[in-house]
Amino acid sequence: MSERVCLVHYHEIGLKGKNRATFENRLLGNLNHALRGLGLKKVRRISGHLLVESEDGNATPQMARAIAQVPGVARVSLAYRCSQDEEEYCNAAVHALAEVDAPWETFKVHARRSATNYERHSLDMNRLVGSVLCEAFPAKVVKMHKPDVTVVVHAVQGDVYVYTDTGPGVGGLPVGTAGKVVPLFSSGFDSPVATWMVGRRGAICVPVHFSGRPMTSDASEWLCQDLVEALAPAGIIGRMYVVPFGERQREISLKVPQSLRVIMYRRVMFAVGEQIARIEGAKALVTGESLGQVASQTLDNIAAADEMCSMPVLRPLIGSDKQEIMRRAEQIGTHEISSQDAPDCCTLFMPRRPETHARMREVHEAWDMIDHDEIIEQLVRDVEYVDYDQCPSYRPPRELRARHKELAPAEW
Ligand code: ATP
Ligand code: MG
Repeated sequence: MSERVCLVHYHEIGLKGKNRATFENRLLGNLNHALRGLGLKKVRRISGHLLVESEDGNATPQMARAIAQVPGVARVSLAYRCSQDEEEYCNAAVHALAEVDAPWETFKVHARRSATNYERHSLDMNRLVGSVLCEAFPAKVVKMHKPDVTVVVHAVQGDVYVYTDTGPGVGGLPVGTAGKVVPLFSSGFDSPVATWMVGRRGAICVPVHFSGRPMTSDASEWLCQDLVEALAPAGIIGRMYVVPFGERQREISLKVPQSLRVIMYRRVMFAVGEQIARIEGAKALVTGESLGQVASQTLDNIAAADEMCSMPVLRPLIGSDKQEIMRRAEQIGTHEISSQDAPDCCTLFMPRRPETHARMREVHEAWDMIDHDEIIEQLVRDVEYVDYDQCPSYRPPRELRARHKELAPAEW
């Protein structure tokens, strides 16, 4: 029987003109990384697709699923690779159609020819494969418009690929083609989804989590680590920073009016996030904010935090409803982890009535009640991190490697 391979289809990359080769190579590298341990032999380019070959010549649905989660993949097909021998590829078409899982009644053949060294015209191939399939499945009906199943027969560079099942990929662009960003990352539903979304658009993500430690336990940090692990199949995260914020939060909570505490915490978070972004060579922060969702996410309060950051702050969920965000969290595998409760710096020293429409003058007065520069400097100086081998394009900053080696806790 013919060999089984995965054919990877991509849309947007094709649109990028001169950048095409760069994008294809990045996707190729990312697929190589994502398929480690799954019996991969080689990923290579063939005529507008990437071809994934397995060591034993029998690519699996598990491989196809892993491929589908890699940003830049529009669709993936588990295909038979045949020679140009007609009997062989007609046979493969019968097998492919027999393997269709869902109930089906109608089908069509879609033959294509990207090979110049193959004599048969695609119309001819259509007729040939179609007649074999009609014979093999006499109860089924050929339907040209919107059939239940399409059998693709594609002649490329000396081979003929045959497949029916084309599963959707996550789409987007290969990670590493859109620079680096620093998401402010909590164990809630929103920021992991926001992180995934910018990662899907090609950004390398270096999340920063503010923990309430030592005033709270480190439970939120463990949840954040679980979330990063859950996002591993997308290959977007290279490192996570953890900022123990508890002590300084307590200090802030004692010095500023109660209703403005949260805004002060957030200003510190944005400032620290920006400094980490600069060390990392990242060009934007990312948050999971969605307009009006909670007190801190009104336009006034967003402005009060934004003021602290001179780089762009991306908010991919700003117009999303919670339901949509939860659905996406389920899809990307973070929902269950985010459902677990863990106190973090946001739940610590929460005022009874947080300000929902902060006035800038009052914000500035409160800001001057704390030693903000020293707080920010200390938090950046004492930041901890954990590295992940998920994102092949991630390069850690040298400066920090030298400075913070001893800060990465041994058990991480
Ligand atoms: P999430 O579900 O992402 O935690 P949320 O609905 O709890 O969001 P907020 O607590 O107001 O909303 O947080 C808004 C955004 O601020 C978050 O999406 C995240 O980007 C950032 N953020 C909140 N808490 C933290 C934290 N402990 N560490 C880092 N960033 C945080
Ligand atoms: Mg939160």
